[in-house]
Amino acid sequence: MEPRVSDTHRNSFSQLNVPPRLLLGPGPSNAHPRVMQAMATRLLGHLDPEFIDIMDGNQEMLRYLFQTDNSTCFPVSGTGSAAMEAAIANLVEPGDKVLVGVNGYFGLRMAEMAERYGAVVSTFNKPWGESFTRQEISMALREHRPAILCLVHAETSTGVRQSLLGVGDLCRKHGTLLLVDAVSSLGGVPLFVDEWKIDAAYSASQKCLSCPPGISALTLGERAMEKIGNRSVKVSNWYLDLTLLGRYWGRERIYHHTAPINLNYGIYEALRLVVEEGLEARWERHRRNADLLIAQLRKIGLEPFVRKEIRLPSLITVSVPEEVDARKVTTALLDDYNIEIGNGLGELEGRVWRIGLMGFNSRPENVAMVTTALDRILND
Ligand code: PLP
Repeated sequence: MEPRVSDTHRNSFSQLNVPPRLLLGPGPSNAHPRVMQAMATRLLGHLDPEFIDIMDGNQEMLRYLFQTDNSTCFPVSGTGSAAMEAAIANLVEPGDKVLVGVNGYFGLRMAEMAERYGAVVSTFNKPWGESFTRQEISMALREHRPAILCLVHAETSTGVRQSLLGVGDLCRKHGTLLLVDAVSSLGGVPLFVDEWKIDAAYSASQKCLSCPPGISALTLGERAMEKIGNRSVKVSNWYLDLTLLGRYWGRERIYHHTAPINLNYGIYEALRLVVEEGLEARWERHRRNADLLIAQLRKIGLEPFVRKEIRLPSLITVSVPEEVDARKVTTALLDDYNIEIGNGLGELEGRVWRIGLMGFNSRPENVAMVTTALDRILND
């Protein structure tokens, strides 16, 4: 029997013709050309010794990015949410108390995931655009005495950087594990997993690493691995079970699932770019270009939404002037200038724009392009 294909189908799929967007939203950000080139490299098998060398390189370079000596540190197949889910699915046992600091959209996602894995979830909250003080974190820990505290280092929905100084010590005092979302900070904003006593952290490829989405990063320290080792019930997510994944990413190199080979090439090149530049130089570049963006925005009458002390350099939220229709502006930027910036998410919808200057995209010419275009749209 012939497979059914209608004439309209047969003739309706044109060749891909993708516009050359400048991706200055909350991610994905544009991939570095060297990363795209690496991804076009021919395939290897997922157990080929040559591929295993690349896996080793990815693990070692990720340790540098996370600033950790953790032996558990590897790329996860799937986007940032997969790494978030890997952390939560493995660390949470049904009935565990999990405390989540919610000051934006991604704190809510962590709470939702923890609940799905059977945690008894409590939240402590701050208005979107604010961060938690150490005292507020300390009080919440004392009140809830959780097994795990979840915090978002870089809240992409609000542009807020959460200080983690001293939080690890507080957690240790209470026998709590500290889980940190570093999706929009890794490779762009200072992060010290070991020094800050972070027990588990994860990130994603498509933000400050300038690699396409689809692969993410995860690290867990000894305390976290001990909790996982002492589990009394199996991890209820097979794909992300660390004891199974550890046999592929650890010494044994036993098949678990087919690794996304070309995304591993991509993140390998992305990590090499970070190593070449050096973390400190890269953090400084992100800071400098964020400052430049804010100075240029002020010249055209726009103000940052977040105060300087807790403002992220990788994702800058901009207050939408009262008389302006936020969505009309983002549509005009996309249609007329090929520039993508983000609209507000959740309760900030219509109130802010989100401008990402991440990784390869954190450059003065991009600041000039987006502010010139915004000026023309708003002020001409
Ligand atoms: N956490 C934060 C802070 C994020 O910004 C994102 C994505 O934007 C995620 C988690 C989820 O990552 P992904 O969309 O790659 O699954």
